[in-house]
Amino acid sequence: MTHLTLQAVTKRFHNTFAVDHVDLSVPDGKLVCFLGPSGCGKTTLLRMIAGLETPTSGSVMFAGRDLTHVPANRRDFGMVFQSLALFPHMSVAENVAYPLRLRRVERGAQARRVAELLELIQLPHMANRPVTQLSGGQRQRVAIARAIASSPKLLLLDEPLSALDAKLREAMQVEIRMLQQRLGITTIMVTHDQREAMTMADEIVVMEKGRIAQVGRPLDIYRDPVSEFVADFIGLGNILPVTFDGEDRIGLPGGRTISVHAASRVARTAGDIRLLIRPEDVCVRPIDATPGPNVLAGKVTFVRDVGASIEATIDCDGFTLTAATTPRETPSLAVGIRVLAEMPAHACRLIAARTAH
Ligand code: ATP
Repeated sequence: MTHLTLQAVTKRFHNTFAVDHVDLSVPDGKLVCFLGPSGCGKTTLLRMIAGLETPTSGSVMFAGRDLTHVPANRRDFGMVFQSLALFPHMSVAENVAYPLRLRRVERGAQARRVAELLELIQLPHMANRPVTQLSGGQRQRVAIARAIASSPKLLLLDEPLSALDAKLREAMQVEIRMLQQRLGITTIMVTHDQREAMTMADEIVVMEKGRIAQVGRPLDIYRDPVSEFVADFIGLGNILPVTFDGEDRIGLPGGRTISVHAASRVARTAGDIRLLIRPEDVCVRPIDATPGPNVLAGKVTFVRDVGASIEATIDCDGFTLTAATTPRETPSLAVGIRVLAEMPAHACRLIAARTAH
């Protein structure tokens, strides 16, 4: 069942289309991430769903009701926005109880719900602590507990982890995701961090200049991006300008050719074309290994060895490839050596080049 539906939602600030005709359905119980570079309209879209901003045109439907002009406080959505910080003069328990107090929930029921929520966020022993004495991660957990206190049907999160350091941020991503799955609460989260979106989302909405560039499951978008913009934004990739004969032959920069599987994203008549191959799909072999189709000789120009994984930059005469491998797979990678780099046909995608605006 689809709970939230956006129909041609548009927001114009003076001459800027912050959000431009967005159509979207968010299925019940899923976590959806709005992902995109700064200024692409993620926050504005979330604020229109929250009721903090009114669309210039289009509609926001929730559970069959048109909420477009319903004010935020009448939508009953849970929100964790940076602008809605915790109340510093209140304790943890008072913060979590706040939405219940607003709804005049009876005191006993309030106390039971707060205890249950503090258990859920694993801070039951901190009920009476002032929120100013919590760590960043603990504060975020309290903000989430407060947002879900009145059992909202929709939880909206705007960059909830951006103030945390990298390690805590990764831990909180897993925590929020597990909590969301346990509660089955439909959640929309804004982030500009593609790794965060890949970790947490059932579906990612990639945004570009106020529009949706692609919607899909994280791995589907990673493996099969619709455009150079999406390919570049999601994960690391080798993106090469190539020529295409309309069948299966690709001309690489420098003049050599390889073959690709036909099922790619470009029409025969397409304009500028790019080839995408992810670093983990480039196979690196010793220079004296048997060459095969789609195998090119090159020279290693840089090696980033972080123990568990190795990333090598290979100069293939006309272009460079980044390959990701492991010390076990490729033990003797070093700057200056010559290697064979295979670009398997099934891992090469063709996509339309980014158009300049
Ligand atoms: P970030 O990741 O930097 O927060 P974002 O993707 O969330 O960016 P928005 O904050 O939604 O982007 O902004 C989209 C566009 O709308 C930007 O060009 C921004 O300058 C503009 N914008 C947003 N809010 C307003 C406003 N209140 N008045 C005028 N322009 C605005």
